Amino acid sequence: MLSIVIPVFNEAEVLPMFIARLLEASLEWTEPFEAIFVDDGSTDNSITTISNLTQGRENITVVKLSRNFGHQAAISAGIQQAKGDALVIMDADLQDPPEAISQLIHKWREGFDVVYAIRKNRKESWPKKLAYKSFYRTLRWVSDLDIPLDSGDFCLIDRKVADVIIHQIPENIRFIRGLRTFAGFRQSGLIIEREKRAAGNSKYNFRALTRLALDGIFGFSLMPLRIASYMGLIIAIPSFLIGIFFIIHRIFNFKLFGYSPTDTPGLASLATGIFFLGGITLIILGIIGEYLGRIYLEVKRRPGFIVEEVRKGDDRLIT
Ligand code: UDP
Ligand code: MG
Repeated sequence: MLSIVIPVFNEAEVLPMFIARLLEASLEWTEPFEAIFVDDGSTDNSITTISNLTQGRENITVVKLSRNFGHQAAISAGIQQAKGDALVIMDADLQDPPEAISQLIHKWREGFDVVYAIRKNRKESWPKKLAYKSFYRTLRWVSDLDIPLDSGDFCLIDRKVADVIIHQIPENIRFIRGLRTFAGFRQSGLIIEREKRAAGNSKYNFRALTRLALDGIFGFSLMPLRIASYMGLIIAIPSFLIGIFFIIHRIFNFKLFGYSPTDTPGLASLATGIFFLGGITLIILGIIGEYLGRIYLEVKRRPGFIVEEVRKGDDRLIT
């Protein structure tokens, strides 16, 4: 069986189109399937839209979270609920075309455990495109894992990968693309055209996107912390040599560029040095604070999401 996990946050406008296209695309594959809509604290009528459109279908599940926990947490909730032998994770806004699912299944049948979509030609504004491109490249550069470039959350994962993600990865700040790579097994990418959002607005504002990017970088790399030692070395070694030179210069008191140490003490260079080192220290403190905050959040062991209820399309209440 196939489980399709769909995080939903205020998507009432696009859901009718999404459900129609999903059901039509499902005729193309032979596997029985369940669709798990995770309502991430929507304030519009997303839930009623789903239940009206899927009335009586027992292969539809709606997991209602108790509030908005964010896209990645919603995906985690869906993975936890899914019973299938393979799970497809996709957005509700039709940016991930349901017709491509059959390609993912095909790859899975070939023996791959993770099949992820690679985005070519993002249909976004150019600053957003540039930001995405540089993010993926930075992430790949700083991370110890080979997280594939331009691969989003749209993917198929085998049951064993889902089990690893649910049972063996206890962290709460979840960057699914990274965890999926971390899990290993046989992975393969497929180039799938990422479409424009069919209706409604993006639920990621600048802040949420920045948070996602930071979760990716700080969750999968110690590089920012190491910057401290690198910078320290880069600054300390030349400073030490220059310091020795200054002492020699002072002792022998010779003229260099028409200047001898007894002329005027170098106030400007001193001040510059202090500001520079102060700046670096603050940056490094910020980086350490970022990791410390994350350690604090993880240590508290609060769940990444809370499920309020789980309801089937035929209106059975599961929990
Ligand atoms: N989403 C969610 N919780 C959130 C934000 C988004 O479940 O807090 C869902 C949203 O409904 C959509 C998917 O995550 O199905 C991707 O969001 P969106 O399309 O707004 O992001 P973008 O494609 O613009 O990056
Ligand atoms: Mg989208």
